[in-house]
Amino acid sequence: MQRGEELYSGKAKSVYLTDSDDSLILLFRNDTSAFDGEKIEKLDRKGMVNNKFNAFIMQHLEEQGIATHFLQTLSDTEALVRRLDMFPIECVVRNVATGSICKRLGVEDGIDLALPTFEFFLKNDELHDPMINEFHIRSFGWADEEAVEVMKERTFKVNQILSKLFADAGMILVDFKLEFGRQGDEIYLGDEFTPDGCRIWDADTREKLDKDRFRKGMGGVVEAYEQVAERLGITI
Ligand code: ADP
Ligand code: UDP
Repeated sequence: MQRGEELYSGKAKSVYLTDSDDSLILLFRNDTSAFDGEKIEKLDRKGMVNNKFNAFIMQHLEEQGIATHFLQTLSDTEALVRRLDMFPIECVVRNVATGSICKRLGVEDGIDLALPTFEFFLKNDELHDPMINEFHIRSFGWADEEAVEVMKERTFKVNQILSKLFADAGMILVDFKLEFGRQGDEIYLGDEFTPDGCRIWDADTREKLDKDRFRKGMGGVVEAYEQVAERLGITI
């Protein structure tokens, strides 16, 4: 599959047309951003690690019955995916309270939640991705009722599947963000699942093994991603 014109260049990935109207190529770059693009650095090997990490997770989810956009790996840093009309929405599930929810609700960092919780955010860097609810989504037409239900249900299902995957490898899936889109009548999980968009802690030490290392300037960012990959049995 040949890479065509660049359709979009985001903060960490570039999206290209292909010779089919139904597919796109995602290029995972080394660029790493935080705080809505305020902090940006290139981290060696990150594009490759994330591409392989994402391919493994998407295939695992597909095997467990989640419809994803992933079609095939094309190179170290490129994946072929279904072309989706993305909902401008981020779906976040949390198993442990940390990050923005602690600031917003004044709750202690690191509390294990009695039940996983769910939040919608609007994808809008200028507005710093504000939290929104189902009424906002419906009122402004960002998605219809069916899509809202599908996104919630599938995000919780992904949480069940991946919490087990990480737990079996001695890690805690703290929280994560998913994006969904539509092709025809079908809704698919799109974008990526990598340590850039989730929080993963070592189960014993609670050491951070995700993008919080970059946000907090802790170093060893890609090394941590590789450690998680290795523990999951992903060959980089
Ligand atoms: P951002 O746009 O947040 O800076 P990225 O750098 O990851 O993020 O850019 C990837 C972009 O591609 C995102 O806007 C995402 O919504 C979009 N995208 C991901 N998967 C698909 C897909 N299958 N079809 C169309 N667009 C997609
Ligand atoms: N997240 C993401 N992209 C965003 C916002 C959040 O991938 O634009 C992920 C983030 O990595 C974490 C989860 O969603 O795994 C919850 O993030 P939170 O709301 O705590 O925001 P943050 O503290 O990252 O600002």
